[in-house]
Amino acid sequence: MAPSDMISTYSQIEFIISMLFAFSAGASAGSFINAAAMRTTSDKKWWGGERSSCDKCGKILGTLDLVPILSYIFLRGKCRYCSEPISKRHFASEVISGTLTAALYARWGLSPALAISLAVLWFSLFNSLTDIEIGYIYDVWAVALGALGILIRIPAGWAAMLDGLLGAVIGFGFIAMIILISRGGMGWGDAMLMMGIGGAVGWRYSALSLYAGFMIGGIVVLPLMAAKKLKRKDAIPLGPFLAAGSVFVLFTGDIFVRRLSYFLGTRPGWPWG
Ligand SMILES: [Zn+2]
Repeated sequence: MAPSDMISTYSQIEFIISMLFAFSAGASAGSFINAAAMRTTSDKKWWGGERSSCDKCGKILGTLDLVPILSYIFLRGKCRYCSEPISKRHFASEVISGTLTAALYARWGLSPALAISLAVLWFSLFNSLTDIEIGYIYDVWAVALGALGILIRIPAGWAAMLDGLLGAVIGFGFIAMIILISRGGMGWGDAMLMMGIGGAVGWRYSALSLYAGFMIGGIVVLPLMAAKKLKRKDAIPLGPFLAAGSVFVLFTGDIFVRRLSYFLGTRPGWPWG
């Protein structure tokens, strides 16, 4: 083997190991976020005396029942004690968070962009889960995302922080405008969620996220309405679409930002130019 081949084999192995690590860290985060969302919607505490238990029989779960993804697979989706099916939301949260965490790590490497991306992914996963379950977005976790995003921007200086503030204003303002014009359809929780996401990602990605979120919402909802599976008056949670749009933009926003910088004569680059 030539030395250069050895180096490339070594870096491939290193890449695979770091991807596996990112995947399992993301799956664990997804597991925690899902549990936190379920406890929040049922007014339970996140920690302290509360221990993880079966949703159906209430049996306190052991370590082997709580390994992200693997426990679900080995138990074939059923509780070890009562044999009732385990809600798919546990498995789905772990797989989605694991896969996207690894993909974002591959996209950005260890960088401020990765920190902001993971904050957006994890906080908006939490907000999506509560929105799907009870149609409610907890403002405090949307505001926390925006605040964390601005905090990460501090070392990059005033322009980067201002970019975050502008992103928050665009995200909140656009949804607020829709609420005021349409009177219904969207809630203030959606506006708060976009304020948080916008504060983290800055004004360009905030605008793109809104666009992508509405496009994804349309692509999913319109065919369901056409097939009469959904009625116009049905309450459709919009948080998950906005979250999906913003995560989509974390991967693709670069393409648009380059064009935009060309026209505006600004420096390309994200999270700050
Ligand atoms: Zn059980």
